[in-house]
Amino acid sequence: MERQIHLFEEPAPDPRPPETVTWNLWHGCTKVSPGCAHCYMFRRDEGVGRDPRVVSKTQAFDLPVRILRAGEFRGRYRIPVGSHFYTCFSSDFFHADADGWRPAAWDMIRERADCSFFMITKRPERIGDHLPPDWGEGWAHVTVAVTCENQAMAEKRLPVYLALPLKHRAVMIEPMLSAVDLRSNGIARIESVSVGGESGPDARPCDFAWVLDVREQCAENGVAFSYHQTGARLVKDGREYRIPRAKQHEQARRANLDLGGTDRLGEIPGE
Ligand code: SF4
Repeated sequence: MERQIHLFEEPAPDPRPPETVTWNLWHGCTKVSPGCAHCYMFRRDEGVGRDPRVVSKTQAFDLPVRILRAGEFRGRYRIPVGSHFYTCFSSDFFHADADGWRPAAWDMIRERADCSFFMITKRPERIGDHLPPDWGEGWAHVTVAVTCENQAMAEKRLPVYLALPLKHRAVMIEPMLSAVDLRSNGIARIESVSVGGESGPDARPCDFAWVLDVREQCAENGVAFSYHQTGARLVKDGREYRIPRAKQHEQARRANLDLGGTDRLGEIPGE
């Protein structure tokens, strides 16, 4: 495959604006914890008669390193310099069935160090043995986030996650299924926390008091916080509200709870 190689000279600046791209390089997964119960990827696949447990490489596998073959920007990467990739949102980047493809994925991520990559896993125990050989203390353009949907998963996953060499650490509490105490689980070593309720027809309730409590923990520790979406069933002051899908992100935004940074996430698996 032809690649952009610039020996001894700086490449010309890329005049195109950066893009935000979803890069689903493999598809399919298996459920590992309560947060997976109503995974939207399962819902969608089962709706079209596809087995969501079969993990397969997608047509988009080489997206970050594809080269334009024609036009004004011929010879450049199809995805502009400085773009942001949301990686593996219809699977888990550290799923065992993708072990054979991951080294090539790391090669592409290494090659596109001019971009940033964000991925979420519920399998932090597999990260350490599946990093690239030159990972060192982490790559500055890669964020590996971990999901802790309830207190039990925070206690199980965070000690493993915090021991890993990562340049950026982010915690997703989505779908939020209980109050989560991060104070005793290394909150000061986390860069950002994103919280959200569960969507879909079988959504479980999310209590607004849990959301406020995590926000308070973040505020105390200087950690960025984002209230990503309310979910379909929001409990506030003991009363449950049904929030239509179209309003779940908007209502969370209106709560005006975010601290530091911006939330660029769209729909994520398990919401
Ligand atoms: S929520 Fe994530 S980890 Fe769980 S089954 Fe879905 S894609 Fe896999």
